[in-house]
Amino acid sequence: MAIVNNIVIAPDKRLNTECDKVQDIDADLVRLAKSMAKTMYATDGCGIAAPQVGVLKQVVVIDVDWDGSKGSRKNTLYLINPEIVDKSEETEVSYEGCLSIPGVSLPIERSSSVVVRARDLQGRLMQYEASENLLAVCLQHEIDHLHGVTMLERLSPTQRLEAIKEYQAALAAGARPGETSAE
Ligand SMILES: [Zn+2]
Repeated sequence: MAIVNNIVIAPDKRLNTECDKVQDIDADLVRLAKSMAKTMYATDGCGIAAPQVGVLKQVVVIDVDWDGSKGSRKNTLYLINPEIVDKSEETEVSYEGCLSIPGVSLPIERSSSVVVRARDLQGRLMQYEASENLLAVCLQHEIDHLHGVTMLERLSPTQRLEAIKEYQAALAAGARPGETSAE
């Protein structure tokens, strides 16, 4: 159980716990979402889920547009109680990183396209459609976190053993959230 740069890192049972649905989008919830965004930008992540800051609620923040470079614009998406309502049978494998598993990037197979519904911070029901892009990967990765699933649980048992070894080596070498290996 460890928190580094305000991020819960694996292994930690909070990362493998089903999160509660948000009942009220009140001031506390908005504060939580904004502080998650701050943490995400500070660690150069493109997404963050509430369990990664130790809060077991269905809240996700994503920004796939901001890369910290000059001219890059912030486009913060706040997703409350997000649900995948449709996904393609067709899948793609891409290398993903995770703030809670610093120092490694792992090949994860996911649907190529997804449709997600979620409330925004004003309580409006929003729909996001993403196909063959970073947003499609990020939506699935972050929503997994709300159901206690990290990248490690998406791997086959053999791949997982390898990944855990690589992760332990990265941690021993001082990896911090936001650092992924150049794959
Ligand atoms: Zn993650």
